[in-house]
Amino acid sequence: SALVAGAIGGLSEVLGDVQRAAGATERLLELLAAESPIQSPDIPRTLPPPTGQGASLTLEDVTFHYPSRPLTMALDHVSIAIRPGETIAVVGPSGAGKTTLFQLLLRFYDPQQGRITLDGVDIRELALTELRNATGIVPQDSVTFSANALENIRYGKPGASDDEVIAAARLAAAHEFIEKLPGGYQSFLGERGVRLSGGQRQRIAIARAMLKNPPLLLLDEATSALDAESERLVQGALEAAMQGRTTLIIAHRLATVQRADRIIVMEEGRIVETGTHADLVAKGGLYAHLAALQFHAMA
Ligand code: ATP
Repeated sequence: SALVAGAIGGLSEVLGDVQRAAGATERLLELLAAESPIQSPDIPRTLPPPTGQGASLTLEDVTFHYPSRPLTMALDHVSIAIRPGETIAVVGPSGAGKTTLFQLLLRFYDPQQGRITLDGVDIRELALTELRNATGIVPQDSVTFSANALENIRYGKPGASDDEVIAAARLAAAHEFIEKLPGGYQSFLGERGVRLSGGQRQRIAIARAMLKNPPLLLLDEATSALDAESERLVQGALEAAMQGRTTLIIAHRLATVQRADRIIVMEEGRIVETGTHADLVAKGGLYAHLAALQFHAMA
């Protein structure tokens, strides 16, 4: 669901914000964290040093139901091995488990069965901060904060220099429009500031992820239609964002599924087909059916 998908990005972003705030909020967060079943291990393992080629990722017989719904398997014996640098499009009807997959990769929940590894390490053995530092998220509905453009992007890597921020904005095809704002990078964004278009907000979110430079990138592609120019710019920015990393995309665009190395087709918590767009169209199964109905062609 779009709401849940937005919440993932939103929640982690807001938590990041809150974490940086001091004092009472910090204690509140500690209390919340103590209540959560998701804990960092006492003696965490660490990831191997980044190769610049992206991380490998495996799901090994992963089965998961939400605590509130013990009878609905949101993921049902899901196994897949993803190589460093691969771009994987995840598609499937509503309720198939696409968002759940992302939530498990980020360890908002742990599976009841099976395991997930990142570069060979069970993600439950990693410090939560290391897992989340290794993972970039571009949510479906990207938000801008009440801060200037520079800070909105720097958010992806607190402490980054202005030059780093601008380099990331260039890669994400955001530099040009930001420069054209009345105050350039100093322009105040957010509800009481400059209102950006959907495509511009997406490019800000991509710039944040580029600045963070994680080996694993999770993209929840926007479902809303963009105008042709914005679409072209977003596609270009995504293309750049995928270079040198492993990318999983909950895909809604024809252009995205067509260029994915592999498409994973999910239904009712299971992987029912995998292959390239051409493979799966030729097969005439669920994917071919979905493709005919669902993908927005680029204008
Ligand atoms: P969509 O395309 O609509 O976003 P999806 O493929 O992302 O769907 P999920 O959101 O992963 O599907 O949902 C998988 C299953 O888990 C569904 O049966 C859904 O109703 C259920 N589910 C999702 N989120 C929760 C939650 N927070 N609590 C309980 N059940 C949930």
